[in-house]
Amino acid sequence: MNQEKLIEKSSQYLWLPFTQMKDYDADPLVIESGEGVYLRDIHGKEYLDGYSSLWLNVHGHRNEEINHAIKEQLDKIAHSTLLGASNIPSILLAEKLIDLSPEKLKRVFYSDSGATSVEIAIKMAYQYWQNIGRPEKQKFITLKNAYHGDTVGAISVGKVDIFHRVYKSLMFHSLVAPFPDVYHHPDLDDADEIRDRCLQELEEILREYHHEIAGMTVESLIQGAGGMNIMPKGYFKGVEDLCRKYNILLIVDEVATGFGRTGKMFAVEHEGVQPDIMTVAKGITGGYLPIAATLTTEEIYEAFYDDYNSLKTFFHGHSYTGNQLGCAAALANLEIYKRENLIEKTQEKISIIENLLKPLKQHPHVGDIRQLGMICGIELVIDKESKKPFEWEDRVGYHTTLKMRELGMLTRPIGDTIVFMPPLAANEEELREMVSIMSEAIEMTTKKYAGEKAV
Ligand code: PMP
Repeated sequence: MNQEKLIEKSSQYLWLPFTQMKDYDADPLVIESGEGVYLRDIHGKEYLDGYSSLWLNVHGHRNEEINHAIKEQLDKIAHSTLLGASNIPSILLAEKLIDLSPEKLKRVFYSDSGATSVEIAIKMAYQYWQNIGRPEKQKFITLKNAYHGDTVGAISVGKVDIFHRVYKSLMFHSLVAPFPDVYHHPDLDDADEIRDRCLQELEEILREYHHEIAGMTVESLIQGAGGMNIMPKGYFKGVEDLCRKYNILLIVDEVATGFGRTGKMFAVEHEGVQPDIMTVAKGITGGYLPIAATLTTEEIYEAFYDDYNSLKTFFHGHSYTGNQLGCAAALANLEIYKRENLIEKTQEKISIIENLLKPLKQHPHVGDIRQLGMICGIELVIDKESKKPFEWEDRVGYHTTLKMRELGMLTRPIGDTIVFMPPLAANEEELREMVSIMSEAIEMTTKKYAGEKAV
């Protein structure tokens, strides 16, 4: 089919996620292939994959080993159900995940996306308390600006106003504690003070409601879609201590941060946090196939282990749960981490990125650069001193990413924060090229605001 026809049909038949289709129709993009850290569209134009194809890709596109593992599995079987039957790759992967994850986690429950892994975590925590005779523990507590995916359970613990407000009456109610957002805090700028105040406010809520709270959901160390905001040192551990003190299950969302993104296999390792439930997805297959998992403790697992008639069974499962192709891809993906000592190698890339981003700090419209490992957010503001944002209608973040696309790099903004999350496999030259494109696009997009200040 010719290129123009394809573009026409993409606008005629598709409805893309998190996309205003009017924007897409104005400037359609159809990807045809990829290689390493590059994506190629149907016109043959190449783009650096600056968002790891939505925070997934690890070793680059068309990695031979992962491709081979998928093909090999395909010659055995593509899929059989995990309801009442297991399969070889799902067993081997479960063992590997448990080996890699924090000590307390002993069981793996599969699903197929980050949101479903969170949905499962919520239902698991909810039912756990019923199964052990504490049915009054039904509430969830979450953090301001949290994002855990788009299914109804996941949005119920999601607190990003623009994504979630429209569904308000559809969601279950959850309690909300403040997030220690250092850059955007209205009256404090000392990270330790912000941490202590937020922990104090969290404790006040827990003190009052703990007997009704089943679990606390929290993104691991950094809020992604809520703005790329990193917790100050000690906050995450503080949350864990409070969950223990008030007997609340700690549900940690490692969907975006897992598998080396932050410089550790899981971001919980930075503060030695031991979740009761942990969700993983995205990087689990290196970005090749849609599988996810919810990991939990033996204690939680045992609360569901009984005669069928006790109704303690976890009545949850998806058709593609434990899909063999996905598990085979994940096994091959994780094998590369081990053989290549990838986490170790990532440390060097993290410092390269840090150094490359440094000069951007001088730019008059770069308000803040937040980096946790290979997750970066570059926040653009109209006035650095007052941190005043650009007008919402100006869509400066969006226009910057469109400019980046023109210059040969793809990413998506979160408001006016530019997401920079390259595949872990990106080499120094590729990282340099990505940062250079980003700098140029920021310069070109913001130059018309030169000299504009807060009023
Ligand atoms: N949790 C977090 C922290 C995420 O960043 C995301 C996706 N960006 C999700 C959950 C949802 O994952 P998925 O898109 O695979 O449903």
